[in-house]
Order: sequence, then structure tokens, then C-alpha cells
Amino acid sequence: MSSRVHTSIDPGPQGTASPRADVSPVGWVPDQPMDAILDVLRRGERFLVCSHSRPDGDAVGSMLAMGMLLGQMGKRADLVTADRIPNIYRALPGAEDIRTAMRVHGPYDAVILLECDGPDRTRLLGMESFYLVNIDHHATGRNFGHLNWIDRDAASVGELVYRLIKAAGAQITPEIATCIYTTVLTDTGGFCYGGIQPSTFALAEELTRAGADPIQIAREVYFSTPTSKLLLAGAALTNLKRDGRLAWLWVTHADMIRTCAAEEDCEGIVNYALAISGVEGAAFFRELPEGCIRLSLRSKGRLDVAAIAARLGGGGHENAAGVTLDGPISQAIELILAELKSGIAAIQPGFETAR
Ligand code: AMP
Ligand code: MN
Repeated sequence: MSSRVHTSIDPGPQGTASPRADVSPVGWVPDQPMDAILDVLRRGERFLVCSHSRPDGDAVGSMLAMGMLLGQMGKRADLVTADRIPNIYRALPGAEDIRTAMRVHGPYDAVILLECDGPDRTRLLGMESFYLVNIDHHATGRNFGHLNWIDRDAASVGELVYRLIKAAGAQITPEIATCIYTTVLTDTGGFCYGGIQPSTFALAEELTRAGADPIQIAREVYFSTPTSKLLLAGAALTNLKRDGRLAWLWVTHADMIRTCAAEEDCEGIVNYALAISGVEGAAFFRELPEGCIRLSLRSKGRLDVAAIAARLGGGGHENAAGVTLDGPISQAIELILAELKSGIAAIQPGFETAR
């Protein structure tokens, strides 16, 4: 097992959370967290599948694929998120079945949390009473669940769901392949960054052979941009700043209103700053209606932005992370530039603002 795979199993109902006795793998600690999760799925009847708020491609695709696995197993699965599914993922098979809610309740045998470093990341209320199964691949992933499977080498959580589906002996339908391919495509930024390994391409090949259509999926994800997103990018680009190896840009709430932008239109804007030659760290700041600042951090190479985000209460991956900060924007920018400069200095002493 990879040293980057972490598992922990809480077998008993000692805590306040109350795993249903018939699904909890009491007294049995298997070698693989995947086996323990499969056991929970086999024993239960009804599951809630959730992911983080403002769902991205990995969140949506892995939820849908998990729902399809449970369907093949003859189980009932409710798919719930706090925020609506972005337009570019609405064409995914089954996307119309994902419900939005503020609170969850129901006779669930377990809640499957995908891509979350804690129940709060879902922004759904009412999680505390359930048996929680945590499947994640973030550098900042935590063993918060009763059953935890965190593999930091996986390109996406969808890749982990895929392994689970294969281990369950379920069929990789074209619909499942499409959802999983979308998780891999989007979490690697179109096979550009993140934890890409030779196996990532092997997985993409398998999924393509199983019926995922890379051209159609790319068309939905990368060539269905609403005009509002480009207008918002234009506003952000007028605020683009560069200092040595760092670049950053921002939009105010007024920019959002003026361009008729939706929250999902902010996705990827940070990459304009990261794309600049010589830039190793990039930040995109968005002013929220209530005055807080939503920050997206990106880096190339060894600059660890997950560590910066985690110090400030957020999280993510080494090269892609996020957090919500106090406003105003000027203060958030000052804070983050100081963090990024010391991050650069730590890996390249003396070069922190070199051009
Ligand atoms: P974003 O910039 O919002 O696209 O996020 C980049 C990466 O960081 C994604 O993998 C997110 O799941 C992760 N991330 C963003 N915000 C948080 C947070 N508050 N806590 C943990 N992980 C986060
Ligand atoms: Mn992910």
C-alpha cells in the first residue's frame, strides 16, 4: 500500500455518531479501507452521497458514479449538495438527480462524503448523527469519518470510486465511464497538473474504451463557456498584477453584478495568472456579497499552496488550494502575498521576487 494512503476505521458506536449496527464492520479491520467501505455498502440499504459546497467536476462526477454503483448493488442512494450543479456538468448522466438542500435527514445507513476534509465542507446541516464514510485525495484530507479512505496519489476522488466499482464487480457502464473521466479531466486541469502519473493515462484509456467520449466531454467542460464568464475574466484581467514569481488578480462583488456572472464563472480564472511565464504562484480573489474574500491559490512545482491555505483554515492540494478570508480585498491580498513570498523563499532562497 502506498505510504500516501491513509485509512482509519472506527468500528464501534461509542461516540455520539451512531453507525447502524448492521452496517458497521464491528471487530473487523481489513487491510484495505476499500474493502471496509464495500462491506458497509453491501450491508446497508439506504445511503446519502454528498460532496463539498460549490461542487466541481470531481465532486459531481464522483457523486454520480457512486450513485450508479449503489444503484447496481440494488441500494437506494440520495445525492445531495448545498449548491447547484454548474452548467458545464449538467449534461453528465444522472446530474438531474442531484438535489440541493441546506439540511440532511433521513433513515440513512451511512453518509458517503466525497472530497471533503470534514462534514462542514459540505455546508449541509445535520451530518453529525450519521455514520460517515470519508473518501478523499486532498493533501489536507483528514480522518474525520468513522471510515476513512484518503489516497493522496489518486488523480481524483472519481479514480477512487472507480477502484471501488471494479472491486465490487459492478459493470463500468458508458455512463459511469463518462462521470469518472470527467473527474480525472477536470481535477488534472485537462491532464496538465496535479497528481498525473502514467496510471492516469491508463485509466483514461480504460474509461474511453468503456464508453467515455473525450471529445464530447471536453466540449461540455471547456467549450461551453457562457459570455458572462469571459466578461468576468476581462474584469479580472484589468486587475492583474505581477511581482516576480507571483501574479494575482481579483474581482469585486460589483464586477460580478455588472458582468451578470455566476459563482461558477470564477472557476479557472486564476489560471490566467499562473499561465504567465516565470510565475510560480498565483492567486485569484473574489469579494463575496457579505464582504468576505474567496481565494483560489495555484502553483507550479514545489510551492506548496495547500500548506498556506491550511494555515488559514482552508485546504486543497500542493498545487491547487482554496480558503475563505476576511475582507477587505486589499488586506487579503497583503496577507497572501506575504505567505506566497515566504513560500517561494523557502524553496528558492534569495529568488522570491526575481523576474
Ligand atoms: P478552488 O480554488 O476553489 O478551485 O479549490 C482548489 C482546491 O482546493 C480544490 O481541490 C478544493 O477542493 C480545495 N479547497 C478549496 N477550498 C477549500 C477549503 N476551504 N477547505 C479544503 N479544501 C479546499
Ligand atoms: Mn478532487
